[in-house]
Amino acid sequence: MNNFGLEIWSDDNFIIHNDTINVNYASKPSLLQITQEIRERGYKGPLLLRFPHLIEKQISTLFNTFEKAKQEFNYQGSFQAVFPLKVNQFPNFVESLMEVSKAYHYGLEAGSKAELIIAMSKTPLGAPITVNGFKDKEMISLCFIAAKMGHNITVTIEGLGELETIIQVNHTFNASAKKPITPKIGVRIRLHSSGIGIWAKSGGYSSKFGLTSTELLEAYEMIKKHNLLEKLWMIHFHIGSQMSDIAPLKKALREAGNIYAELKKRGADALGAINIGGGLAVEYSQHEGKTERNYSLQEFANDVVYLMQEIAKSKGVAEPDIFTESGRYIAASHSVLVAPVLELFSQEYHEKGLRLKEENPPLIEELHDLYRSLSPKHAREYLHDALDHMESLLTLFDLGYIDLEDRSNTEILVNLIIKKSILLLRSEGTDELKKLQDRIQEKYLVNFSAFQSLPDFWGLAQQFPIVPLSKLDEKPTNPASIWDITCDSDGEIGFNRDLPLYLHDIDVSKEEYFLAFFLTGAYQEVLGMKHNLFTHPTEAVITFDDKGKHHIERLIEAQNLMDVLDDLDYDTNLMDKTLKYRIEESEHISKEEKRELLGKLYLYLSENSYLKTIQAIDERE
Ligand SMILES: *Cc1c(COP(=O)(O)O)cnc(C)c1O
Repeated sequence: MNNFGLEIWSDDNFIIHNDTINVNYASKPSLLQITQEIRERGYKGPLLLRFPHLIEKQISTLFNTFEKAKQEFNYQGSFQAVFPLKVNQFPNFVESLMEVSKAYHYGLEAGSKAELIIAMSKTPLGAPITVNGFKDKEMISLCFIAAKMGHNITVTIEGLGELETIIQVNHTFNASAKKPITPKIGVRIRLHSSGIGIWAKSGGYSSKFGLTSTELLEAYEMIKKHNLLEKLWMIHFHIGSQMSDIAPLKKALREAGNIYAELKKRGADALGAINIGGGLAVEYSQHEGKTERNYSLQEFANDVVYLMQEIAKSKGVAEPDIFTESGRYIAASHSVLVAPVLELFSQEYHEKGLRLKEENPPLIEELHDLYRSLSPKHAREYLHDALDHMESLLTLFDLGYIDLEDRSNTEILVNLIIKKSILLLRSEGTDELKKLQDRIQEKYLVNFSAFQSLPDFWGLAQQFPIVPLSKLDEKPTNPASIWDITCDSDGEIGFNRDLPLYLHDIDVSKEEYFLAFFLTGAYQEVLGMKHNLFTHPTEAVITFDDKGKHHIERLIEAQNLMDVLDDLDYDTNLMDKTLKYRIEESEHISKEEKRELLGKLYLYLSENSYLKTIQAIDERE
């Protein structure tokens, strides 16, 4: 792997230029340059970079692809889309999203009261809002308030109880109103088909959500009885996230399409839309042969349009408007997490660590010769010799014939020989070599929290593409495992022989080395947890002006220590006083020292939890 699988996951959003990875847009700045510009302003921890142009790209691709499919089939219904807020509710994302999607009449989907408030205040009037998930009377009342504001809002009924509440709330809001205004009504159906993959639970009979056909008929009668039929306009389903295969979607479309047609024929004249939920997959894979989806967006759009047309035609009803609620597809690519490598843990296996003597035991001399004369032709043979010598030398140490320095030289030389052989024999990729890689894997300590920034890696083993920001003109040779800075051994992305990651050999006391984690824009931010009290990293929005120059905007620093504790409902005022008191009352320090300590303390309290550096060398500079 030389270009870190860029052609598989990057969708041309990033390119490698000389030795750096660059944004493939406008003036094509490198991520390294952007990172350094932010760090120069004093932000040293991990950074979350947002790229609104990538949100725009996803939205326009989605709309254009469906438009193309509609034209091809001469489809009569419209195509509309909303963004499901649960995928990313952060203001810097949502505000960018609304800004770049203006031309598309793009709306928001809410699944909770707080999300609904975001939708009600951020969606332009007229653009669709859909409301899913379990709802109580207050939440349904909020939907009525939204409708009365002039919002184009659809409440999806997830169960019969909710429908009863809607009828009740409708009475409260409209019985004495000058002009009754009611949200549109959607019904979520419980499919007998379900998705596949780790997120498939949202569809199928055992799903948490949706009405069975019996309930659907009952709902229809209730809606009719309460004169709300003209509001019933959407059929909704969602078969799960990150659909790797298109087959389950096709089944679900047939099922939903037929339900739509049946209800229409029964008399639901206002029914006019099918909402196919989300689920469009993102290609996270960095490795050939391990890709995560088997369809293109055009195939997806064609299938949806074609199947809806087929069903409408055969049942003699109008072609429905098509709604999607894809979130992962829209948001994943927009953000990149950049984190500095703090240290490599096996630096001791460096040539400079050797302590060769005037005279060394013969086997060590031989190891040294093997290392110096290693060539592609002899690599395998020398490697075997070296491993054999190591066994002998370790035995000699146990028996007291060689000393600790000899043993250290042995370990270093053998490690160097393994490393060099693996490199020379890379093209062979035999099992023996793969196993040896485990032995020489390098641990990269990286200034971030996997719990905070990659929770789906922690919880579901979801992979995210990882690429260093520099040195991309050099072949990376270290089989790498990545350690985060939490005190939890689960905060490790271990070296995986089937999905190997190689990084460069670097000396972080001499040069900076950053890793970028891509496709982190969907779900990771709000699912991220504050394990060890590492919080959401410092974030910035990267925009481009007409001349193509990039700008760093809306910078939000990671929370400082006291704010983090305040969030946990500590009485931080009291803590502050206690700390101050303990310094002031301490018996062993002078007045001057106290003042100095207080100054330092307050500086540290104003900073965030992430590490600044652990290399003493920076301090000296
Ligand atoms: C989560 C969810 C979505 C978004 O799914 P993605 O896989 O992110 O596209 C859409 N609709 C509903 C109802 C959801 O619950």
